Amino acid sequence: MNLTKSLNRNTYRTKDPIIMTYNIILFPGDGIGPEVISQVERIIKFFNTRFNKAQFAIETELAGGAALDVHGVPITNAAIDKAQRADAILFGAVGDSKWDDISFELRPEAGLLRLRKDLDLFANLRPAICYPALATASSLQPSLVEGLDILIVRELTGGTYFSQPKEIVTLQNGQKRAVDTTSYTTFEISRIVKIAFNLAAKRYKKVHSVEKRNVMMTGVLWHEVISELHQTYAENIELKHILADSCVMQLVRQPKQFDVIVCDNLFGDILSDAAAMLTGSVGMLSSASLGTNISGIERPRALYEPVHGTAPDIANQDKANPIAAVASFAMALRYSFGLVREAELVEKSISNVLDQGYRTIDIMQDKMCKVGTNEMGQKIVKELETIANY
Ligand code: NAD
Repeated sequence: MNLTKSLNRNTYRTKDPIIMTYNIILFPGDGIGPEVISQVERIIKFFNTRFNKAQFAIETELAGGAALDVHGVPITNAAIDKAQRADAILFGAVGDSKWDDISFELRPEAGLLRLRKDLDLFANLRPAICYPALATASSLQPSLVEGLDILIVRELTGGTYFSQPKEIVTLQNGQKRAVDTTSYTTFEISRIVKIAFNLAAKRYKKVHSVEKRNVMMTGVLWHEVISELHQTYAENIELKHILADSCVMQLVRQPKQFDVIVCDNLFGDILSDAAAMLTGSVGMLSSASLGTNISGIERPRALYEPVHGTAPDIANQDKANPIAAVASFAMALRYSFGLVREAELVEKSISNVLDQGYRTIDIMQDKMCKVGTNEMGQKIVKELETIANY
């Protein structure tokens, strides 16, 4: 393709319409991370070859143990700088017991935590989608989960995990006392709630707000802030308030009643795992972490990653399910680049490949066709070629 760079760093001109070029930085990480991110690269290559409205320039950087082995740190300042400037980050996974003896601040996970902190990625989005072909793989009856499409929006940088004081003190009588604090400001609540309302507006227009206002002051403020914002900011969205314990119960009783669920850091951690597991394997679960807008651009800083870890037990054996990583890229298409149709095409390709009976080992079922990581990636691209019609 003959492209002439124009003034805007993200914009190129051909004879035809303007083509956007988005900069994506890949952090494959450790274990199965590089294997699943390779399958995402296949999808990116497909769009770069066949799609005429956007191009994706990719750069790869080390993170986690891979970075430790080469640079002595789990992520370099140069890599963080690049991540700050990228249009989106795609992360594999980091960690392995082989780096257990490393000091706490240098452990592989510290690389990912630093990325989240430096980029202020405060909004964690975890979809729980049950592909029809996998409805029988859920722990619930197929009728309860078939077609399930929930989006959990979890506050990621405040609340119980970060508020001070957080300590264990020894009392005069020799006993120890552990303290965790939960604090939220109006600003922290309103910015995550606005994201939930914005996302619901593009979905089924329903938000469940989760807190424990019956016993927690943060719950009282959370309820107050979201109720006020609902009136002024999102009147067209149906807002329901639900206590956190009741939400867990309803998730396993009648999960399809939910569209978007918004909650604090602690409740989100628990609810997102519960919701995700309704849908089958951890190898199917994608996520996005969004931050404040990149300066001068409407698009937020964003990191996309599969929920799973490095799976050392199956690493380098062509056994990992790449669907979580590929679905994470679909989230990038939707939330970072506004390419909703392309996101839907990737998701539909995944769904079709599952309908055709292809399964990696983690989702293998009777009479299905077992494939490895590479073959699953190839099948998804082949399906994209068929349905995209570019
Ligand atoms: P894990 O998610 O790596 O593995 C749990 C189980 O699920 C294993 O049996 C594994 O084989 C299986 N599994 C995971 N992903 C799979 C996939 N895509 N396809 C098929 N099977 C898959 O969790 P773990 O075993 O608790 O952790 C292993 C390492 O990963 C640890 O070092 C941990 O710290 C790290 N970890 C990293 C992240 C991250 O980078 N975001 C997240 C979780 C765990």
